[in-house]
Amino acid sequence: MLKIAVMIKQVPDSQDISIDPVTKTLNRSMARNVVNPPDVNATEAAIQLKDKYGGEITVITMGPPMADTALLQLMGMGADSGILATDRVFAGADTWPTAFTLASVADYLGGFDVIFCGEETTDSSTGHVGPGIAEFLGCEQATYVHKVEYEDGHFIVNRDIEGAEETIKIGRPAVITITLNANEPRNPTLKRKIGAYKKGIRVVTNKELQLDPSCIGLKGSPTIVKDMKTVPDPVKNPTKLGVEEIDKLVSALVEKGVVK
Ligand SMILES: Cc1cc2nc3c(=O)[nH]c(=O)nc-3n(C[C@H](O)[C@H](O)[C@H](O)COP(=O)(O)OP(=O)(O)OC[C@H]3O[C@@H](n4cnc5c(N)ncnc54)[C@H](O)[C@@H]3O)c2cc1C
Repeated sequence: MLKIAVMIKQVPDSQDISIDPVTKTLNRSMARNVVNPPDVNATEAAIQLKDKYGGEITVITMGPPMADTALLQLMGMGADSGILATDRVFAGADTWPTAFTLASVADYLGGFDVIFCGEETTDSSTGHVGPGIAEFLGCEQATYVHKVEYEDGHFIVNRDIEGAEETIKIGRPAVITITLNANEPRNPTLKRKIGAYKKGIRVVTNKELQLDPSCIGLKGSPTIVKDMKTVPDPVKNPTKLGVEEIDKLVSALVEKGVVK
């Protein structure tokens, strides 16, 4: 039976976010929260793996208390349990302490055969966290994966590489990051949602993890946002061309070899 984890992040709906000009941080106050879209694909990949080879799925997030709704949604899809790592000392983390804390949570829970992540998030989009978790745990990793099989204790994965696809075999334990649209995620069912609410979410704080406060959250973050500028939309002032001007323009483009 495979022990499977899926790391998921609750993000503001990208349609609703703006940048606060004073604090230079994301203004999330007006934004609806959603599960980071590739993390839903990662959960679907985990469920398909469980359906085929047997296993148990734990969805894990590090975030504020309200992130429990994201975990419940994914338990409604078919994950067996949800872990919310939340503590004031985890706040303000850049990708280094985020990966460190999540790897420590995985360790604290007894380790996993495979940890799925999304390829990247829609709010910070670094794609660092999955590979960071693999490095902290010292395990194998495959990124940008759209297909996963399990054979003789190994994972056979198909990765997207620019303009082509790569099939590789990696050992256990492994971290695998799943691409957006890798699969078609199933909808949560009412029965599973009720089951999830009854089961509830397990909360893990730094009281349990006992991580050095200088290695987590804002204190453990080596990156600092020095400045941020909002780029104004380019002013669009279209000129209406007459037939003559269009003819001239086409002739000029043909002359320059831009069009034939
Ligand atoms: C330079 C810089 C400075 C920043 N400063 C701040 C700051 O001051 N305050 C602040 O709040 N944020 C800050 N952030 C954002 C913060 O770093 C990210 O929210 C966090 O580290 C995750 O990075 P990401 O969103 O790029 O994840 P990615 O690496 O793009 O995520 C890949 C995958 O990792 C998993 N994952 C990512 N985050 C989590 C999570 N929290 N829980 C579970 N799984 C997860 C998901 O599966 C996700 O699909 C900063 C980011 C940068 C780049």
